[in-house]
Amino acid sequence: MNNRPYLSQIDQIIERTNLKSIRKAVFVVHDQLNLDHWPDWVKDEKPLLIFIESKAKGYSLPYHKKKLVYVLSSMRHFAIECSEAGFPVLYHSSESWYNEALSEILKENSDLSLTMMSASEWDTREQQNKVQEECSDRVEIIPNSFFLADVDEYKDKIAPGYRMEYFYRDMRRMTGYLMDGKDPEGGEWNYDEENRKKLPRKITIPERASTKVDEITAEVIELVSSEFSDHFGELEGFDIAVTRRQALYRLNEFIDERLDEFGPYEDAMATGKDVIFHSQLSIYMNNGLLHPKEICDKAQEAYDAGKARLNSVEGFIRQIIGWREFVRVYYEAMMPDVRETNYFGFEEALPDLYWSGDTKMHCMSECVRPVIQDGYSHHIPRLMVLSNFSNLTRTDPRKLNEWFWFGYLDAYEWVVLPNVLGMSTFADGGVLASKPYVAGGNYINKMSDYCKSCEYSVKEKTGENACPFNYLYWNFIDQERETFLENGRANFMVNMFDKKVPEEKKAIRDSSEKFINNLKRYS
Ligand SMILES: Cc1cc2nc3c(=O)[nH]c(=O)nc-3n(C[C@H](O)[C@H](O)[C@H](O)COP(=O)(O)OP(=O)(O)OC[C@H]3O[C@@H](n4cnc5c(N)ncnc54)[C@H](O)[C@@H]3O)c2cc1C
Ligand code: SF4
Repeated sequence: MNNRPYLSQIDQIIERTNLKSIRKAVFVVHDQLNLDHWPDWVKDEKPLLIFIESKAKGYSLPYHKKKLVYVLSSMRHFAIECSEAGFPVLYHSSESWYNEALSEILKENSDLSLTMMSASEWDTREQQNKVQEECSDRVEIIPNSFFLADVDEYKDKIAPGYRMEYFYRDMRRMTGYLMDGKDPEGGEWNYDEENRKKLPRKITIPERASTKVDEITAEVIELVSSEFSDHFGELEGFDIAVTRRQALYRLNEFIDERLDEFGPYEDAMATGKDVIFHSQLSIYMNNGLLHPKEICDKAQEAYDAGKARLNSVEGFIRQIIGWREFVRVYYEAMMPDVRETNYFGFEEALPDLYWSGDTKMHCMSECVRPVIQDGYSHHIPRLMVLSNFSNLTRTDPRKLNEWFWFGYLDAYEWVVLPNVLGMSTFADGGVLASKPYVAGGNYINKMSDYCKSCEYSVKEKTGENACPFNYLYWNFIDQERETFLENGRANFMVNMFDKKVPEEKKAIRDSSEKFINNLKRYS
């Protein structure tokens, strides 16, 4: 049954395992790549480890080519490491989905019992459930231990009004990070006020060490370039850690060289500087190579040793034990109905420029470019530029969600969906965010150097040369006024629009209509 056309490297290293002599097996999903977070018996008893490369999954969206390389190469490296550590390994390449491949293995090996850790993505979990239904006496599903929060404790709280900040304080108390007895270190829970600085022109951003492409990764790059050539993104310059050892190196490098200055510039954007003092650790956390706890432990140690300032360490730890854990609880509480949520009822396809980066708007081309190149940008380009533009141009948020999902290397449905449909587009109608995140050109100008090199003028409010964000923003406030009027924190914006003179209101509407109608959409 093995269909393994592209695995010469892995075949050389993993010996073919005699399945007939094995009674216990564990299925390791591609985002669970660390045995330290599996139950102890797995390391002690060394059951058969099953890995599946599912082509059906690979083709289900036009995933970024580098993402496919990352997912496959890190799984292959991990499987090889396990084999070298004495585990029998079945590395299976399948045309179909995980459940079909697993059912076939179980059918062919009637003495085999199978343990699976509940997958973080809904569809994979549904497939695990199917396998369990078919062979209930031989299959067990254990809870996922790659996260920190107890989903069952918080799931029922997810509703409008329950904000991340409450959850975060609970998580601080539970983990003990940056606590001074019962109080937060320094007296405040949140130091964001100190974390909104524009990047000074003369600042040195430490270079990150690069990771050499080895034979295993080279083989995957070849596979992706021949099999997935029409997928999104560029393949050249793959430079991502693919083993735990390499990922740990990246973690230490971040803690030593960038954590201290992470906070002040975490919201800043600058032309050509895609990573400022950001960690770029989400990709390693999201496939299990690094655990959120070990990352936060290191950040706490750096603070205790006086190597990193409080506002940076607090901001960083909040992103992980706060936002990251919160969006996962939200996903568990809101799935599967949330997939179809579309509060504003926008139905336009995604603008073409999300695929090409081709636009006169410098901010948009600068924010799409690193996604095409490397499947990465930090939080603010994702939120305040790419999602903001999608909303202001009345684009279907589900299409945007799909783009983020296949375009970013750190995107898995449990994390991308809450961020896009909950946080950045308000598609869930305000369950996750307290108000829609929309902004005009002034915000982008304040947080970046983009406007200086743009063909549009951020100072002009309407007309051919005006920054499109300016009129699109007011047009959005006008058209979605009911939502803003109901919201105590945002109703002043409608009042500001209403105070504009009729000529200005007309110019805003005309410029917006023209811009939106002329926007090329992806079909
Ligand atoms: C529209 C949109 C889509 C996003 N999609 C994803 C996604 O698919 N995958 C993903 O991991 N993050 C996503 N995020 C959150 C955040 O942008 C990324 O986690 C972060 O930019 C990753 O880069 P970094 O590791 O350099 O982050 P840093 O700025 O160094 O932050 C540290 C860590 O905090 C965590 N984190 C911070 N904010 C969030 C958040 N809102 N949700 C979850 N984790 C968070 C990440 O694990 C990150 O590594 C999204 C945010 C927005 C606004
Ligand atoms: S002027 Fe407007 S479109 Fe141009 S970079 Fe600034 S915000 Fe973007």
